[in-house]
Amino acid sequence: MNQNQNPTTDQGLTVKHICKQFGDVIALDDVTLNVAPGEFFTLLGPSGCGKTTLLRIIAGLELADSGQVFSGGKDITRLPAIKRQVNTVFQSYALFPHLTIYENIAFGLRSRKFPDAEIKKRVNRRLEMLDLSSMAQRHPHQLSGGQKQRVALARALVNEPDVLLLDEPMSALDARLRAQVQEDLRRLQRKLGRTFILVTHDQSEALVCSDRLAVMRQGRVVQCGSPEEVYDNPTDSFVAKFLGAANLIPCTKAPGGVQTAFGFLALDKEPSWQEGTVAIRPEWIGIGDKEPERNGIRARVTEIVYRGTNFDLWLEPGPLRVRTSSYRRIDPGRKVWLELASKELVILEDEAH
Ligand code: ATP
Repeated sequence: MNQNQNPTTDQGLTVKHICKQFGDVIALDDVTLNVAPGEFFTLLGPSGCGKTTLLRIIAGLELADSGQVFSGGKDITRLPAIKRQVNTVFQSYALFPHLTIYENIAFGLRSRKFPDAEIKKRVNRRLEMLDLSSMAQRHPHQLSGGQKQRVALARALVNEPDVLLLDEPMSALDARLRAQVQEDLRRLQRKLGRTFILVTHDQSEALVCSDRLAVMRQGRVVQCGSPEEVYDNPTDSFVAKFLGAANLIPCTKAPGGVQTAFGFLALDKEPSWQEGTVAIRPEWIGIGDKEPERNGIRARVTEIVYRGTNFDLWLEPGPLRVRTSSYRRIDPGRKVWLELASKELVILEDEAH
């Protein structure tokens, strides 16, 4: 088990050894995780890796074949969804089209027979918090995608759940609005101090929003940690590639480092394997006109991509991708020195595919 998973059952939300199969499909294969109270936790992975199934099991909408779910130390594995202190915001928002925004948000409280004055107080507080007060009497079809998304959030938050589950709630938004909502969501979570569990296949969303994230693949958690930990130290080539661009360099172990197609690269640590892969992010490769003291590679620029704040270069011998940190344009055909500094090289546990 990954050291970051370290589940304790006395606080927060814990899933232990969860397995779930649909016919021949293994959706979840021994998943163990602990989410601390007040943490923004993200389940990140490609389509079909089991994220939604895990979220549904936490919500009580699906029963695991084996394993347990704990909340605040209590075993809630078999507790019906309605009795859990958990609310879910779905991808589709699932708003009631015939009800006003106010009534959509009030719905959960009305069905739990809250007095009118209390409903008014709570709904107005959420309308205000999510900047929806002027839209209270509109119907869902009169709102934009981003506004509907905020109503779905308000509707879940009005119930004051201990845990808020978010199933790809931003996937229907365009890129600009999405970035805005990601920041809003993060701020909202900090302000409320509640536990948020987000499901997404978007790595930048996971990096922006989360205190910690779990990268999932084929029903298993492959790595769990803070965005920095996972981005800076991916354990294998899948995580390295999934969390943004990475140069994966096949190599064999040599005294003090590894032998690659670009020559010898010194490493700070010995790899555990004889043949394997080292990775380096495009932004961690140094670029200059002088040969570096160690781990220098002479390379020719083959392609340049303008990214607004910087340039991405493709180089030969390669494929190597370098992200410059400046506006300086380097023309294709030019030869440069690259520095793949030992401290920036990550030793992966597997061979890149
Ligand atoms: P996506 O990002 O596409 O929503 P996901 O990571 O959330 O994917 P799940 O929806 O949890 O993945 O599905 C995991 C696997 O289980 C998939 O192979 C899926 O086809 C399968 N699966 C999920 N629900 C069912 C079901 N009710 N019946 C049969 N197979 C299912």
